[in-house]
Amino acid sequence: MAKERLYLFDTTLRDGAQTNGVDFTLNDKVAIARMLDGLGIDYVEGGYPGANPTDTELFATDRGLDATFTAFGMTRRPGRSTANDPGLATLLDAKADAICFVAKSWDYHVKVALETTEEENLASIRDSVAAAKAKGREVLVDCEHFFDGYRANPDYALACAKTAYDAGARWVVLCDTNGGTLPHEIENIVGAVVKVIPGDHVGIHAHNDTEHAVANSLAAVRAGARQIQGTLNGLGERCGNANLVSIIPTLKLKKEFADRFDINVSDHQLKALAQASRKLDDMLNRAPNRHAPYVGDSAFATKAGIHASAILKAPQTYEHVPPDAVGNRRRVLVSDQGGRSNLLSELERIGLAVDRNDPRIARLLDEVKEREALGYAYEGADASFELLARRILGTVPDFFEVEQFDVNVEQRYNALGKRVTVAMAVVKVKVGGETLISAGEGNGPVNALDVALRKDLGKYQRLIEGLKLTDYRVRILNAGTEAVTRVLIESEDEAGERWTTVGVSANIIDASFQALMDSIVYKLVRSGAGA
Ligand SMILES: [Zn+2]
Repeated sequence: MAKERLYLFDTTLRDGAQTNGVDFTLNDKVAIARMLDGLGIDYVEGGYPGANPTDTELFATDRGLDATFTAFGMTRRPGRSTANDPGLATLLDAKADAICFVAKSWDYHVKVALETTEEENLASIRDSVAAAKAKGREVLVDCEHFFDGYRANPDYALACAKTAYDAGARWVVLCDTNGGTLPHEIENIVGAVVKVIPGDHVGIHAHNDTEHAVANSLAAVRAGARQIQGTLNGLGERCGNANLVSIIPTLKLKKEFADRFDINVSDHQLKALAQASRKLDDMLNRAPNRHAPYVGDSAFATKAGIHASAILKAPQTYEHVPPDAVGNRRRVLVSDQGGRSNLLSELERIGLAVDRNDPRIARLLDEVKEREALGYAYEGADASFELLARRILGTVPDFFEVEQFDVNVEQRYNALGKRVTVAMAVVKVKVGGETLISAGEGNGPVNALDVALRKDLGKYQRLIEGLKLTDYRVRILNAGTEAVTRVLIESEDEAGERWTTVGVSANIIDASFQALMDSIVYKLVRSGAGA
């Protein structure tokens, strides 16, 4: 049986940009649009041309996309003609392949928000779709508050959707704008809509206010809708939009959907998904969600020893899909609760093949247990674990030695009479026979230390140039009788590879220093640097 085509519509640049604290630059927007295009997304919504300088510029830029680039805006204002509405004119003139109109479909909103009649709202939908079609654009109509509207007045909500379809809209998109509708309600209501409008012209736009945006999107597809709108990483105001990063692998890898539907994302493109998800977090300067389904660091991680040995023998017993299908990887966590199997499998993954009865394995296991008792957490610090293992197995060169460092924090008035805190660090490093002294300034002592440490590493400098810290987490622990500080640092290199290191001490600077050192040494080991 031939598969049906399912279309994906991304609104990261429009609805996703509504997220608190998210402010995309023009370059960000172009980069995200290209990334979405590279993933095989059918429609990329760019934003509201004319609404702000960034979006206006984006629509004037040559984006070079295969995806259908879509402009978003309102239908004509009530009481005006399409020829006499400047907002609509800007939208119609925007350099876009498609136009997505937002239209009211809840009678209450028509009365209260638009302050117009139900008939005039239908006329506005009809005229706006016709005007965009006349301009040669593909047309979509987002029926705002469709599900709430349907519950209040099903006939009117359906009339709005039908008017859009009859006027020539390629897609009529049912929006759960408040995000409060549940999957079984979505399935019922979409089921009613596809009796009036063919399902291959119906889309779903779900918000995540009950944590059901993904489930609601799938429920709509089950009921007959054939376009899903969502965002990368579920970005969006309040609780977010439907997360395409979860939806795409489900459509590709779960039999019920994979057997029935084709999407424009190839198996090869699917493997780029984890990286795309992280790239967006990078742009937003956010730490990736470790527990994100499919793509999170913990999505295919396991800790207990008994599971670990079973996973190595038959991964499918503990994994619902193969991690590499989405560009993720299996992680067998090393910790004191683990055991020999975890350790051996992790060593194998790193490429340190060791015989299972090698006495150094027992030493490494003891060392991990001892250090975890002190507060180290290797399950979250893969790079520090790898260094510990390599050190015990004798494969880490002495690249450099920090002979001394000095960190100084000063609070004072600046020239403007404002009270400021400034941190300064001086580091004395011995590389080969050479002693190098570097100073660094930062907004805090750890930042200053990091800047100074990475300023000049002599012959290794070139290898750490692309290194940057992407996350820094501090926890105070009660280990034994006194409180200690655990610092976890996440780093990234120019190739986008990420790793986490750990440091523990009663002193936060010491703990940070250990984690920073591990991060640099790890990078040198990975770069194949010699002593
Ligand atoms: Zn929305």
